[in-house]
Parts: sequence; C-alpha cells; structure tokens
Amino acid sequence: AMIGGFISGLRGKLRKKNLELKHAMTRISELVNIDELTGVCNRRRLFEVLADEANRFSRTHGPFSVCILDIDFFKQVNDTFGHLAGDQILREVAQTVNKSLRQIDCFGRYGGEEFLMILPQTSLEGARVKAERVRTDIAALRFDGIEPEFAITVSIGVAQCREGESTEDTIARADQALYSAKQIGRNRTVTETLVTGN
Ligand code: GH3
Ligand code: MG
Ligand code: MG
Repeated sequence: AMIGGFISGLRGKLRKKNLELKHAMTRISELVNIDELTGVCNRRRLFEVLADEANRFSRTHGPFSVCILDIDFFKQVNDTFGHLAGDQILREVAQTVNKSLRQIDCFGRYGGEEFLMILPQTSLEGARVKAERVRTDIAALRFDGIEPEFAITVSIGVAQCREGESTEDTIARADQALYSAKQIGRNRTVTETLVTGN
C-alpha cells in the first residue's frame, strides 16, 4: 500500500510537470511566431509560411497569392494622437483582418504599419476580391476612443506567384502594386500588372 501510494504520488507529479512543460512549449511557440504588439503572425513566421507555400507550389502548381497592406498616412496619425493611439489602431486593424481569414490563410505584421496576407490556393482575382473586402472592413472601423468617428484607410498591393520565381519576386510585385495604389490616391487595392508576351 505504501509503494502504491508512492507510485500514485509520482504519477501526479509527472502529470503536473507534463502540463507545465506543455504550457511552456505553447508560450515559446507564441514568442517565436507571434508579433507582440498586434497578436498576429510575426515576420519570422510569415517567411516560414511563404517558404512552405513556395515548396507546395513547386510540387502541385496550385496558385497562391500575396497581399501587402499599408496604413495610409499613419505617420500623421501618430503625430496627431500619439504613439499609443497608433499602437491601438495597429492592434485593432490586425485583429479585424485576422478574424476574417480562412484557416489556411496567414496574416502577419511585415514591418511597422505594413502587413502581409498569404492566400494559398487563391488566384490573383480571388486575392483581389479578398483584399477589397479587407480594405472596406478596415475603412468601416471607428476609433471613437481616439476621436469620435475617427477612421483610417489602407492601400493594398496584390500579386500571384508565378512559375519558377522566388517568393521575394512575388512580394516585390505586390509591393510595386502597393506603390501604385498609394500614387493613385490611397484607400484602394491594386493588382500587379500582368505582362504577357514581349
Ligand atoms: P503612406 O500613406 O504613404 O503610407 O504614409 P505613412 O505616413 O503611413 O507612411 P510612412 O512610411 O511615412 O510612415 C509610417 C509610420 O508608421 C512611421 C511611424 O510613425 C509609424 N509606425 C511604424 N511602426 C509603428 C508602431 O509600431 N507603432 C506606432 N504607433 N507607429 C508605428
Ligand atoms: Mg509603410
Ligand atoms: Mg503607411
């Protein structure tokens, strides 16, 4: 009976240690993959997902697209309402987009006030439609705590991965499209220009 009690005590301790280890592992995975400010994927995780997607693309040739989002006139927001207000906007924007995604999509913070959306099994047109929905969702947000009826907008550049190219090339085209969106007047989605033939 004494040995039985001893063993059951050990089991209990082991169970507790296992649970602690599991929590620690979860926390580590969060620290490695999640952007601290916004709670969405961080840059490291984004590039990991991109590499996986590129790998899958080379095997299955199913389309995949990327969208780069950049908040419009964000410097002005910081200058007017302060950095903490800016941080709050970053968080709410990120969470709004994150909630609207499919399980297989990945959304993360690419840098400062720029975000990347990775859409597996999605053509350029599908990605454009998704980006437009995200853009209008964000434009509909109100930040009454900052100033009554205060709203922001984003510009979005979209590109689809092409045969034989690196994900850096795809992102570069999405970035060019974003640049066009800014030039044309912001608060819009622009897709890469498809150039065919020579
Ligand atoms: P544009 O419409 O051309 O994108 O103008 P912009 O002002 O958004 O662009 P710019 O790149 O000049 O400024 C980006 C600003 O984003 C600069 C910085 O103040 C702000 N920013 C970047 N990271 C953070 C952050 O983590 N928190 C806050 N609050 N602001 C940030
Ligand atoms: Mg920017
Ligand atoms: Mg900006």
